[in-house]
Order: sequence, then structure tokens, then C-alpha cells
Amino acid sequence: MLDEKQQAYKKKERIPRPTPAQYKKEFLFLKEVDCFALVAVQNHIEDAFRNHFKNRKHFKLPKFKTKKDKQSYTTYNINNSIRVDFENGFLYLPKLREGVKIELHRRFDGKIKSVTVSKTKDGRYYASILVETENPRNKVVEPKSKACGVDLGLEHFVTVTNDFVSYKVEHPKYLLKAEERLIRLQRSFSRKPKGSKNSEKARLRLAMQHAYISNARNDFLHKLSKAIIDENQVVVVEDINVKGLLKTRLAKSVADSGWSKFLTYLKYKAEWYGRTFIQVDRFFPSSKLCHRCGHKNEDLALHDRTWCCPKCGETHDRDVNASINLYLVGLGRPEVKPVERALMDDRSPNGLPKKPSRDEAGSSTAKG
Ligand SMILES: [Zn+2]
Repeated sequence: MLDEKQQAYKKKERIPRPTPAQYKKEFLFLKEVDCFALVAVQNHIEDAFRNHFKNRKHFKLPKFKTKKDKQSYTTYNINNSIRVDFENGFLYLPKLREGVKIELHRRFDGKIKSVTVSKTKDGRYYASILVETENPRNKVVEPKSKACGVDLGLEHFVTVTNDFVSYKVEHPKYLLKAEERLIRLQRSFSRKPKGSKNSEKARLRLAMQHAYISNARNDFLHKLSKAIIDENQVVVVEDINVKGLLKTRLAKSVADSGWSKFLTYLKYKAEWYGRTFIQVDRFFPSSKLCHRCGHKNEDLALHDRTWCCPKCGETHDRDVNASINLYLVGLGRPEVKPVERALMDDRSPNGLPKKPSRDEAGSSTAKG
């Protein structure tokens, strides 16, 4: 289907809308697979072309996949053609009447719309089940803290300040170890002669390690972002301009630390659970402002981990100070009611300001 469409496109002819059925005579294997899966392919390809003609810049013309890509197929639930046996852990798909033993991550209610079965490069199979349901979310918990500021760092993954405390979250040790092992496996793979049996074994080990790291990192990012969203009503992060950073030397560590994924998770979880997620303007100098007196330290260099405010004499941990400044932006949000804000200002644990003077910070606007 893709080939016919591509040919017509090249010749500037009207693009045909082929159906899978017309190929069944020539390609007998099409009769072996379930027909809803073929319909899904047809829908995907029509969507891809429609998107392309709507927005050519954003949606490139669809291309052929290579065998190296992740292998997957989608099929629809028509007349109960897809079922899940929660008790015994079986997934029933069209043409697979005996069912497939699955490891079920969670139960769900609602109507199954479709299933996508994919095979990863390390040879594992996954089934993602799309379900229509009335109550999709987990229980929303009452936030303990009104606001929090999240500073993203290289040494520590994040530094967080909320109503009660400032704390740092390290990069997980198991991820660092897994990355060391990945480098060893990469070396071992590149030493093996291409196309040999040992090379294939090494490739599989490498792919498994890649998959492990990506799963472990996602797990870490999901748990951390969920904890922060549960804890706070307003979450403020800096606009790190990830794409800009990626072009620089920092690229590898930034990509590895998963900042942009982390921000994406925070953002949609905030939406799910009715919290406010704010990325401050990229020109807001969260690191350079003294959170105590509002003085802006223009001389602060990237490698300065601590600094002393020349105006009020306070010594700052760079990351903690930045997260406090972001926290203060959060406190200023309308979601935090003035009465609550006054209560906040009355307490002064962990050196947070009683009444922040926000001469400079106050003029910076936060994007909401
Ligand atoms: Zn100061």
C-alpha cells in the first residue's frame, strides 16, 4: 500500500487508497494474519498521509520500516475478539484462540478498544491495551505542601524545596552501574567479527542492557515525578531550554539524566491530578538571585557550587538557593491563597526567608 502511494506521489498522480484485501491473492501470508490487524495498518497509513498533507513540515512522508526497527502490530477489538483473563493471566487475540500467557501489570475496567503487540530489539514481547473507561486516574491525594521549586542539576538529578524542607535527589546508583556495564558490552560487541555467532550474542546482550536502562530510568522518572506531584499544589521548574543545551558539550549528560522526559512527566501528571505546573521564563536567574535579599550575583560561574551573597552575607548552596527561588515563584501563584501565603511567611524553618524581598525576582513573570 505504501509503495503504491509513494509511486503515485512521485509521479504527481492522484494518490490511490488501496485496501489490504486486494493483495491477498499475490501475498498468501496476508491470509494468515487477522484481518483487523490489516485494517489497522490501512488506517495508520491513511492517517500518515492525511497528516502529511495537513502539515508537511511537521509530518514527513511515511517511509518503509527496516527490520532493525521495533516490530509491532495493532489489532482492534471487534465483537470481543480481544479478551483478558485476569485470573489466569492470559491475553486472547484474534487468531490466537488458546491465548497468550502474559505478565499483567495492573487490572483495568472498561472496554478494550485495541491492542498493540510489539517486540523489542532484545527479543521481548509487550502488549499495550487501549481501554475506554470512566475513571481513568488513580486517587487524587490532598497535597501536603502548597508549592515546590525543582532545580535540575548535573551533580544531583534534582534539588527540591517545598513548604517544609529542601532536599536533593541523586542519580540512582543502579543506573550509573548499568551504564558502566553498557560501555563494556559495547566494546565487547565492536570487537567481535561482524556477522559471527558471537557478534549476534553480543548484540543481543547489548540490546537487553539498553532496554534495562531505559526501563529503569523511566521507572525512576515516573516515581519521582508522581511523588512531587502528589506532594505539592504548585510545581515550579526552570526552563532549561533542553534543545539548546543538547547542542553543547553538556549534551550527553543532559540526555542521560532524562531531564526533558522528567519535565514531560511532571507536566502531564500535573494536568491529571489538578496541580499547577510552571516553567519559569528562561531569563529568570534562579541560580544567581540571593533568595534572602534578592541581590543578583552577576559573577556566578557554572562551576561555583557555593557562593556568598555580597549584600547580606548569606552563604548559599547553588542548587538549594535556585530551588528556593523557584519555590518562591510558586508561593506567589494565585492557586496559593493569600491567607495560606501569610501562614507560610510566619514559619521560618531551614533558613527560608520570613518575608522575601522580591525586587528583582518579582519583575520576572512566570509562564503559566
Ligand atoms: Zn543576599
